[in-house]
Amino acid sequence: MSSNVYHFDVLVIGAGHAGTEAALAAARVGAKTALLTTNLDTVGQMSCNPAIGGVGKGQIVREIDALGGAMGQAIDATGIQFRMLNLRKGAAMHGPRAQADKRAYQAEIKRLVEEQENLSLRQEGVEDLLTEPAAKASHAQSPLAEGPVVRMTGVRVRGGAEYRAAAVVLTTGTFLQALMHTGEAKTAGGRAGEGTTSGVSQSLQTLGIRLERFKTGTPPRLNGRTIDYSACEIQPGDEQPQPFSFLTERITQAQVPCYITHTTAASHELIRANLHRAPMYSGQIETSGPRYCPSIEDKIVRFAEKNQHQLYLEPEGRNTLEVYVNGVSTSLPRDVQDALFRMIPGCEHAQIMRYGYAVEYDYAPPEQLRATLETKQIDGLYFAGQINGTTGYEEAGGQGLIAGTNAALKVANREPLVLGREQAYLGVLVDDLVTRGVDEPYRMFTSRAEYRLLLRQDNADRRLTPLAEQLGLVDSRRAEKLRAKQAEILRLTTLLDATRYEGLSLAERMRRPEVDWPAVVQMAPPDTARELAEAGPAAVEQVVNDIKYAGYIARQNFEVERQQRLASKPIPAEFDYGRLVHLRHEAREKLLRIRPRDLAQASRISGITPADISLLMAHLKASR
Ligand code: FAD
Repeated sequence: MSSNVYHFDVLVIGAGHAGTEAALAAARVGAKTALLTTNLDTVGQMSCNPAIGGVGKGQIVREIDALGGAMGQAIDATGIQFRMLNLRKGAAMHGPRAQADKRAYQAEIKRLVEEQENLSLRQEGVEDLLTEPAAKASHAQSPLAEGPVVRMTGVRVRGGAEYRAAAVVLTTGTFLQALMHTGEAKTAGGRAGEGTTSGVSQSLQTLGIRLERFKTGTPPRLNGRTIDYSACEIQPGDEQPQPFSFLTERITQAQVPCYITHTTAASHELIRANLHRAPMYSGQIETSGPRYCPSIEDKIVRFAEKNQHQLYLEPEGRNTLEVYVNGVSTSLPRDVQDALFRMIPGCEHAQIMRYGYAVEYDYAPPEQLRATLETKQIDGLYFAGQINGTTGYEEAGGQGLIAGTNAALKVANREPLVLGREQAYLGVLVDDLVTRGVDEPYRMFTSRAEYRLLLRQDNADRRLTPLAEQLGLVDSRRAEKLRAKQAEILRLTTLLDATRYEGLSLAERMRRPEVDWPAVVQMAPPDTARELAEAGPAAVEQVVNDIKYAGYIARQNFEVERQQRLASKPIPAEFDYGRLVHLRHEAREKLLRIRPRDLAQASRISGITPADISLLMAHLKASR
């Protein structure tokens, strides 16, 4: 037994995007939390693209922020270029995105972690998970008939010290049994210049957790001094940059431009001629990678008819000349990567500072989790981030926040936090993972959400901050700010309803597509017009969207209610699917594997038909 034993309520392993949000959330909820990570200099490190947000992902960052998380504040403080994507489309499709100063972002996340009360950040490499036999079905709503058989007691770190806690959140990212590939060269490690984690994979497998392999890739980084930007197209940021955090009034720092160039027919030829040396095509890597974020070798093969692909030259920070080449993720050998840039306009003389590579790693198929992100097999063990088969900082951060909150709520014997698909993209993300599993690295798209108009990036605070306040996830400053905004929304809505112009109320006028806020202000009598003109832009945005989309929102709410009726029909954890003699074999197998908590979740399992649900519903009624 080790003499160095430390006691906490919650342990979080790995200080990437999932781990930092998990630890911060657990500590905010009041748990005495330790965040253990292999290297304190890589806290919050961006392994790939130095950017936060985008369509679908930006919405998640706004939700993390509405729940009191760090990501939005950190990018507001350290962003070097802000753009609202999809502005020409409707409000549900708007997605904020920002380039980050990579080092400054990391430092900001680390500072927020260091400043958090109840939270200890420690440099430790975890090698083993510690468990003990669990009292039968300690979890009130265990989806396993027999309940978990073991429960977490802590972890052992390199050197033998032990950390004890009843809840552990594992967020080890791409580091489990990781193997990097550049051409024929293979190196053990989860990120260039770093090692791998093997003890944890073995511990998990011993505990009965199933692991599989995924891969992802990253592009080369160039020295900006050697790029000829005059041969590229400039891409500036928005003139009025929009902050991510509901706490940030405005973005004041100067923005830097990005540049656009493209691949050429000659570069495609070069790649085609060297495909046999690309690990994915030579058979060296057989696992799946993200389909929507393909490597350049993938793009050349899949879109053979295209003779050019856009490349974005994105600065990695204000105090470095390193440039991330977005669009050319590759694991081709070094000599091919060097030759490739000789054929790219503006990059003919560019020096590669870091070569692109692919990484293969273990992940745990997420249908092994409950909707709280706790594993079904091991009481008190939670997973968040890339370990769940997802990809992206935002997806990782969001899961971290949910898992960390639930770990803290569990040790305090409080009700868990489970967000619905109608409440948040985070609800969609977690439900997709635990109900449908993944067959390729999962990233968020707006198309995954059926209630997109309810889940806009602009209303994340209205949707989530009141709940976060009840849980203790947000401080009074944030809650007060929302209350003031809600009051202003109510005041403006009442004013628009009560003020008439040529027989119609201003609210009715606003419903027309061609009528915008300035037009409504002009229609109002002078006193009201002054009041409307002076209203805060955040409240105005809500009033306008509430009125313009009222019809669609009502329709989506109707559908939500229908789903909630199904969700109000729980399926007992010990339900015996063997009794449903007419149930198809495939349906029974899936229901047994997922053990859905209610009929709504059952209906979302892929391959479960309305007929299966009717059968299940009839049996549940009969057995009541
Ligand atoms: P990470 O950010 O990987 O953090 C894991 C943390 O755990 C690290 O700090 C690590 O040091 C620590 N750790 C690991 N093992 C231990 C241990 N045993 N003990 C203590 N600490 C430990 N995402 C995209 O959206 N698009 C892309 O194109 C893309 N490309 C990528 C390319 C590469 C090469 C890599 C490595 C990642 C890429 N990603 C991409 C994924 C993105 O980086 C991750 O989704 C995101 O970082 C996941 O966050 P995380 O917190 O789960 O893990």
